[in-house]
Amino acid sequence: MENKKIIIFDTTLRDGEQSPGASMNVEEKLIMAGQLRRLNVDVIEAGFAASSPGDFESVRRIAQKIRGPIIASLARAVKGDVEKAGEALKPAERRRIHTFIATSPIHVEKKLRMTYDQVIEQAVDAVKLARNYTDDVEFSPEDATRSDRDYLCRILEAVIKNGATTVNIPDTVGYTTPQEYYELIKYLINNIPNIDKAVISLHCHNDLGMAVANSLSGILAGARQVECTVNGIGERAGNASLEEIVMAIKTRKDFFKVYTDVNTKEIYRTSRLLTKLTGLMVQRNKAVVGENAFAHEAGIHQDGIIKERTTYEIMKPSDIGYESRLVLGKHSGKRGLEKRLAELGFKLSQEELARVFEKFKLLADKKKEVYDEDIIALMEEEVFPSPDVYSLESLQVISGTTTIPTATVVLRKGEERIKDAASGNGPVEAVYEALERITGLKGKLSSYRIKAVTEGKDALGEVSVRVKFPGIERDISGRGIAVDIIEASAKAYLNALNKALVYKRNE
Ligand code: MN
Repeated sequence: MENKKIIIFDTTLRDGEQSPGASMNVEEKLIMAGQLRRLNVDVIEAGFAASSPGDFESVRRIAQKIRGPIIASLARAVKGDVEKAGEALKPAERRRIHTFIATSPIHVEKKLRMTYDQVIEQAVDAVKLARNYTDDVEFSPEDATRSDRDYLCRILEAVIKNGATTVNIPDTVGYTTPQEYYELIKYLINNIPNIDKAVISLHCHNDLGMAVANSLSGILAGARQVECTVNGIGERAGNASLEEIVMAIKTRKDFFKVYTDVNTKEIYRTSRLLTKLTGLMVQRNKAVVGENAFAHEAGIHQDGIIKERTTYEIMKPSDIGYESRLVLGKHSGKRGLEKRLAELGFKLSQEELARVFEKFKLLADKKKEVYDEDIIALMEEEVFPSPDVYSLESLQVISGTTTIPTATVVLRKGEERIKDAASGNGPVEAVYEALERITGLKGKLSSYRIKAVTEGKDALGEVSVRVKFPGIERDISGRGIAVDIIEASAKAYLNALNKALVYKRNE
């Protein structure tokens, strides 16, 4: 029997973006969607159009720009939501409306306060309405794994009868286990008379660390679509991780006997890009994309690997595109840069290209070799920057083991140049003090992370901060990239300060 294809439904931009601290603006979502297309996922859930004007705009822009994958929007099973989703998806080449309503006793009785028959009626109405906008309609009974099985059969039979082409079985709260989920999927297949008219989809959360295991179990039971996110980001403990599911299927095709169309060589780059866009780092020992995933420390393992790679390695780093590729150097010209940017999916105006090229030359002078990651970092700084109220003009720091660290900072605000100095317990603290004195905003650093963007002593340093500002409920994230890590630290904090200022202005 021929191996069956598993549809990869990526929800990084919808469920993933709901994870605390992961919010992205429209431009950032567009960059991510472009990379998801290169990764070759089948469906991109671009957002939840009715949830906010920003989300509507993101779905619409992605629908306009991204060709290839199906673009989906989430919608509650209510008229207004389905209409908003349909409208936002209008420019898409291929569109899907994904509508949902809760079915578990706790949700139906305590949250919705409806009867079970009313819930079915509302689901059917939403599906029918969605069919006016597209032939591709997905329905999710929210909290399916805590719902009554026979009731699930009833509601799913009804929505399929009325035009749902995919039925998703969400483990909304990450409660199920592999065996139980397997049995649930089998039960639905065996007890819904018209189930052959729809694709069964899986959607698992990781509250008990079983999201990937549960998803794979559902595939074994006969589901044909799996919903997942890059790096496993998502509500609370996150969603099932795309890269783990895809690589499990690829590495153990002998066992699962299915395949995906994902271009696994783009996995590492996709993971890194998301990390950059959200500031959410991946743990070092994370399966597939963690820094240590392919590092061998024990002497006995290193010995084995040198003699025969497969002794301790079941995947090749190159399978996920984990290799720093030298792309450009000091002598590369503007056309070379333009070509590489196009290959990475960035199309720039001549004016933008000129700006990026100027920065590229400066970087190439400091570093001998410029990697894809460096170029993506430049793009983020130059072409898609956050709205800047203040920009860093210059920075001078004195520090050492016997002096009090002191920073002098010059910022530009429009035509104005503002200079101030401060001291601190360390050079970074001194810089942050000076920035706060100039901007008049005082924040509390809730996290500070630094990492090298590429390898080697001359690597670009990337600093991510999360800052709590008085009067702003959520933490504001900031990123900065520079060869000098103090400068990167300054840029990251200034980035957060600028966002906070815009936030306050919009209030
Ligand atoms: Mn979810």
